[in-house]
Amino acid sequence: MNCIDEKLQPIFSEVTRRNCGEPEFHQAVHEVLESLGRVVAKHPHFLDQALIERICEPERQVIFRVPWVDDSGKVQINRGFRVQFNSALGPYKGGMRFHPSVNVGIIKFLGFEQTFKNALTGMPIGGGKGGSDFDPKGKSDGEIMRFCQSLMTELHRHLGEYTDVPAGDIGVGGREIGYMFGQYKRLTNRYEAGVITGKALAYGGSRARTEATGYGNTYFVQAMLQTKGTDFEGKKVVVSGSGNVAIYTIEKVQAFGGKVVACSDSSGYVVDEGGIDLALLKEIKDVRRERISEYATVKGAGVHFISADKGSVWDVPCDVAMPSATQNELSGKDAGTLVKNRVIAVGEGANMPSTPEAIQVFQDAGVLFAPGKAANAGGVATSALEMQQNASRDSWTFEQTEERLAAIMRNIHDTCAATAEEYGAPGNYVLGANIAGFVRVAEAMQMLGVI
Ligand code: NDP
Repeated sequence: MNCIDEKLQPIFSEVTRRNCGEPEFHQAVHEVLESLGRVVAKHPHFLDQALIERICEPERQVIFRVPWVDDSGKVQINRGFRVQFNSALGPYKGGMRFHPSVNVGIIKFLGFEQTFKNALTGMPIGGGKGGSDFDPKGKSDGEIMRFCQSLMTELHRHLGEYTDVPAGDIGVGGREIGYMFGQYKRLTNRYEAGVITGKALAYGGSRARTEATGYGNTYFVQAMLQTKGTDFEGKKVVVSGSGNVAIYTIEKVQAFGGKVVACSDSSGYVVDEGGIDLALLKEIKDVRRERISEYATVKGAGVHFISADKGSVWDVPCDVAMPSATQNELSGKDAGTLVKNRVIAVGEGANMPSTPEAIQVFQDAGVLFAPGKAANAGGVATSALEMQQNASRDSWTFEQTEERLAAIMRNIHDTCAATAEEYGAPGNYVLGANIAGFVRVAEAMQMLGVI
């Protein structure tokens, strides 16, 4: 890891002391503080009134019991979380994650990242995140519905279109959003469409929201490639994951003329040198909800499945890598392999998928590197567009919405690039994203007083 400026070191020490046993949260805070040395050197007033300490402390954290009854009649207990991190710029906004690995430290790292990401979009949204250690894998529709209803029975009292607006994340797609919104509506007796995003079109969703995170990351990487006079045309691409973000990354990369040769899930990865067949992948993952090995089984000769214990998707040579599964999925060793195989750009679709060691390897090798808090901001930006449509009782076309998304991603790219340049680190998108996001939140917080 790089060093934190000595003025900021006590802040980091205090964060680790007060949030012990939360390594992902420490990692996310460390990465932002690493970038802020240059800011406080230029603008020391950001050290006043414990501003940075306050940014590192969530405004509110809710942890609650989620009891539900499984199909065999047995009572199951999960834990629900909502971390309302920062509302200086607008209502808390960020997705819900359902995965057995979820704990308060993971939700805090995601909420912290979300605060700066949302600021980068330039839209009036604060940062929050939530979820549960519930594992949706292998559950029936009825079990998913009862779980979502039980979770919302507690969560609804903390939400509101001007208070806190959740959306999807790992394990939470259109089906789960529908069940959560249904229960919210029933409990409050209000049709408050703007209280949750990622809704289906039938009840107030936005066109292009499903596609937005993957499309947005692809737009960001395209903009980075263009700074070097190139683009996706003819490039070999590897995308990890095969969920929402991965699928729509693959779709847009293919539309831009790139060839995606590998993707994965937690069980392993498939290599299809002819280019991933997206219709088949969607059928297997979205409709049949099967494992990625099924893709190789159906495609047959020439397509390989390699299980997770035998290798990493990052062993597959490519020009562009787009990690789109989960945090810390791309290690320093993986980064070394990618660099050896001459990767030229990395765009993080997932949140914090590259370890600090991996980021260092990419930066040392001069690889174009787009951090998740900038590159995957298209999802939340389109969620904010969904809120705009709900507020005005309007519904935009796909083209209109995608045009807005493309402009927002271009703007985030240019803001990160210009900020990196301004602070003496041209081409360092990590620094650019952290500083630009921080300054927007910090300036608003200073105007609002010590709260
Ligand atoms: P999905 O649940 O749709 O898909 C997640 C994918 O990642 C699945 O293929 C899953 O495989 C894989 N995965 C999850 N955990 C692991 C693990 N421990 N090891 C290997 N693979 C894993 O989630 P999303 O596509 O929505 O989210 C992916 C990432 O993008 C997350 O980091 C999320 O925070 C981030 N993100 C999502 C946004 C959105 O709009 N959805 C917005 C911004 C960021 P398996 O099925 O085997 O678990």
